[in-house]
Amino acid sequence: MKRIVVKVGTSTVCHANGAINLKRLDQFCRVIADLKNESYQVAVVTSGAIGVGTNRLGLAHRPKTISYRQAAAAIGQGELMSVYDRFLSDYGCLSAQILLTKNITEDPAGKENVTATFEALFEQQVVPIVNENDSVATEEIVYGDNDTLSAVVASLIRADLLVILSDIDGLYDKDPTRYDSATLIPRVDDIDALDVSAELSHSEYGTGGMITKLHAAKIAVDHGIDTFLCSGRNPAILYDIVENEAKGTRFSSGGKTS
Ligand code: GLU
Repeated sequence: MKRIVVKVGTSTVCHANGAINLKRLDQFCRVIADLKNESYQVAVVTSGAIGVGTNRLGLAHRPKTISYRQAAAAIGQGELMSVYDRFLSDYGCLSAQILLTKNITEDPAGKENVTATFEALFEQQVVPIVNENDSVATEEIVYGDNDTLSAVVASLIRADLLVILSDIDGLYDKDPTRYDSATLIPRVDDIDALDVSAELSHSEYGTGGMITKLHAAKIAVDHGIDTFLCSGRNPAILYDIVENEAKGTRFSSGGKTS
């Protein structure tokens, strides 16, 4: 039995205006259901709540004030979850929502409790759909990015693999949006030895920037979990990932255990 955490970013789940990309989310849910049918246990960490809520409120940009961002998340999360639930149930899967904040995952009792919930869901063949609880998360308890959250979830549930689906194909040696000569790095065997320039790690190629993705990969790898970073444009890439044949960057844990 293989356990996989798949993180999907806002750019994968939503159109540029924040509305849900129904075609893509449908394809994604179909692949998740299919992997589950092949006996994989899959948890999804999804972004998009704030984007969807922003769109619903008819705002052109993500709100600047915290209360409006949190309100947007409260609106968007419900819609996002209902679409996941509908598509997954079309493909025969039950889904469940888990909203997390840092104070839960960093508190030993909270951690044990939520881990037990994940285990119960997996036992019951349910697909957990996870997001940060953006509507209540204040500065002290906020992860702020779902790349990190996905790595934390992967370590909590001792996943075998973390997949980060993004709007980029993987890690490049230079910022591919600025340099035509940039080449994809297919495998990173020692993340600690990775020599990533400050310019590259802070570049905005990939929503949320590369730095949060590298940070997430480091957390996962340190817990013995390989991490695969690739484009979420075509969710069928997940089939190739489990066969080890996908285009992207694999951060290898080299068999480390947490
Ligand atoms: N939790 C945020 C949302 O659902 C997204 C954070 C991120 O994309 O990293 O809108």
